[in-house]
Amino acid sequence: MAVLRCIRCSSTFEPYPPNYKCPRCGGLLEYEIDYENLKKEKFSGKFDFWRYRKFLPKIRNKATLGEGGTPLHRAERLASRLKVRNVYLKDETRNPTNSFRDRSAALMVSNAMDMNYQAVVCATNGNLGASLAAYCAKYGIVCHVIVPKLVDMGKLAQMLIYDAIIEEHGETVDESIEKAEKLAEEAGWYQATPELNPLVIEAQKTIAYEIFEQEGTPDWMIVSMGSGGTIYSIWKGFKELQLLGKADSTPRMVGVQAQNCSPIIDKLEGKVKRQKKNLTHALAILVRKPLQEELAIKAIKESNGKAMAIPDQEIISAEHEIARLEGIFAEPASSATIAALKKLVDEGIIEKNERVVCLITGSGLKATDILQSLTKKRKTVGIGLEISTKERILRILSERESYGYEIWKKLGKTMTRPAVYQHLNELEQRGLITSFIKKKRKFFKITRRGERVLEAINELKILL
Ligand SMILES: [Zn+2]
Repeated sequence: MAVLRCIRCSSTFEPYPPNYKCPRCGGLLEYEIDYENLKKEKFSGKFDFWRYRKFLPKIRNKATLGEGGTPLHRAERLASRLKVRNVYLKDETRNPTNSFRDRSAALMVSNAMDMNYQAVVCATNGNLGASLAAYCAKYGIVCHVIVPKLVDMGKLAQMLIYDAIIEEHGETVDESIEKAEKLAEEAGWYQATPELNPLVIEAQKTIAYEIFEQEGTPDWMIVSMGSGGTIYSIWKGFKELQLLGKADSTPRMVGVQAQNCSPIIDKLEGKVKRQKKNLTHALAILVRKPLQEELAIKAIKESNGKAMAIPDQEIISAEHEIARLEGIFAEPASSATIAALKKLVDEGIIEKNERVVCLITGSGLKATDILQSLTKKRKTVGIGLEISTKERILRILSERESYGYEIWKKLGKTMTRPAVYQHLNELEQRGLITSFIKKKRKFFKITRRGERVLEAINELKILL
């Protein structure tokens, strides 16, 4: 039987209804399952969230949309770029509403059904609201969502389509949480705010269980931090695997925040002063007063881990990198883990042969800023030096077909011939030119697609 235990004074309490704060000392409460009795239990059933049911606090109902059992991709191209061997991405974008929060929504909605609640409330930066709204829709429960002014459009769209009742409160999620805490008390709604319901940590610890079953315990686990609950969940999962006698080691945990909003790292490093600006494009981790910072710090310290603050530009460039190299469109908060990995490798902290898992919490399709910057980028193709050599090659070939040496001459011999061949290769890969052999020479020829691109460039130039 699970109990709720205070992380400060160790008092224990009844597990339901879930409460997050110790009534004696104000410390945070967490669930503790009966490790001794569970040692003999095996994971059983299909590879999904419910496979770990016995290791969660007791739930009778099962609210599900097919959550968990997400892939752990081996990121070979990214790894070779970083000059390390074993990088894995835990791809939580593959959950029903495209984020890791579906695990939490499944468990909390099941629990709300067990306790006969008709309505739930949560404060959210986005992902949890989207998840909760979907699960409530499926089980006919009224879903109240409190969002801050700064929230990703895609996540808001999900809440709307799943018919949640949405209220805007505060600039960041910190104020929304206070509001949700009051509302649950006054209206008697089920409290589903991740910071205020300890079942969320239980639900998310299954990510660690899955990683362990997929590739064993990694040496490093990199997770982004907003309120601090997620990194702790994963740490708790790995620790439990050890307590249950299944794993013989635990990973070192790396907590990542955006440089402009890094209250947990400031606290960890003993900086008292909070930064003035406190704003980041990674909205999922824009939290100014992290309620679970005590837990995040505990995870980092106990695991002999690290904390990293990453500037927004590096988050964005990592975002593009994992998309281009690994085919994964991550939300900026999770691309921050890739940027952190890069730094740790550069600094020699993560070694070449060590095994690293980065947690990809949610899909980039939900993130407003990313979508906007990408559409802007599409409009500006055709500017920039590299493009202009390719453009010149296309113009040469639009007059008549030609071979490498001739193209190089026509370009004015200003660059090396291998560089010209590199451009020709890239143009061919993109289907803008094709090649064929004539008189033992390799000739190049513009394609229909290449002609259309040239026309588009011409039109763009009129606009500029
Ligand atoms: Zn206490």
